[in-house]
Amino acid sequence: MKKEKVVITGGAGFIGSHLTEHFLSEGHQVVCVDNLLTGDTRNIENFKSHPQFEFVQHNVCDHIDIPGSVDSVLHFASPASPVDYLKFPIQTLKVGALGTHNALGFAKAKKATFLLASTSEVYGDPLIHPQKEDYWGNVNPIGPRGVYDEAKRFAEAITLAYQRTHKMDVKIVRIFNTYGPRMRLEDGRAIPNFISQALKREPLTTYGDGSQTRSFCYISDLVRGIVSLLNSVHHGPVNIGNPNEMTILELAKTIIKLTGSHSSVEFKPLPQDDPKVRQPDITRARKLLNWEPSVPLEKGLKDTIDYFKTVTASK
Ligand code: UDP
Repeated sequence: MKKEKVVITGGAGFIGSHLTEHFLSEGHQVVCVDNLLTGDTRNIENFKSHPQFEFVQHNVCDHIDIPGSVDSVLHFASPASPVDYLKFPIQTLKVGALGTHNALGFAKAKKATFLLASTSEVYGDPLIHPQKEDYWGNVNPIGPRGVYDEAKRFAEAITLAYQRTHKMDVKIVRIFNTYGPRMRLEDGRAIPNFISQALKREPLTTYGDGSQTRSFCYISDLVRGIVSLLNSVHHGPVNIGNPNEMTILELAKTIIKLTGSHSSVEFKPLPQDDPKVRQPDITRARKLLNWEPSVPLEKGLKDTIDYFKTVTASK
């Protein structure tokens, strides 16, 4: 196997750190670039002494300069939880726009393959269900989620413009809800919120009546999908997610059961523009990448709960 040098922006984040771990375990060299706005050095603590690993604290909205040859640039830098991008709206727009532009320019200069972390949010509050890659979406550009959705839609557009103009090798992964160890306990998303509330015996804050749906993919399945896409010849967007759809209320009850908690469910107002349904159509990933998720929800949740228990215990 050819040993490569991979640059991962957002490498200290949840998904970025799992990708870092994967590439190091395969013998590749990894440069992780992160400004630590929502990333955390604790996610990469275990790799710091690895001879093939380098951490560069840098905001990719500024020019990226890493000496030497680079084979792949994986652009994962961005706030990604609704709570985070509401807290950092301008940073979210900038990293999706300026950050993606810089990461593309950097990949072009290095003649590297470029992979963009896009999102199911490009489909907005979808009117087509499940979501296929050829659906253009239903996004409110001026709503609170617009800062993330439009930044990622711009990021996809500029990525394909670079591909068409400069004949670059690019890939776009549309990531659906993903969970697992190294999510931040306080990142505001449903799974970390529910697990930390269940572990503290607090009520699980279910927004709206909990009838909105999501489909949750375990991190190891996502990483496998991203790696297959990186090694494939396909430029266009590919959904990677788990089609196992459920209501948020069902998720809350599953987490109460798995933690053995006595927590109740508490209903809170639904945030504006919260998508009512979400489920990836993964026909394209199945066909092009021969990929599908394999980790059942209960198994993935148990491992995530164990992780959150150790993090809570060490606080
Ligand atoms: N949600 C909830 N309680 C929480 C956090 C989230 O009911 O404490 C809901 C949220 O309104 C949404 C779903 O869970 O309908 C998934 O939210 P998340 O923030 O995980 O990600 P999203 O899919 O909205 O990007």
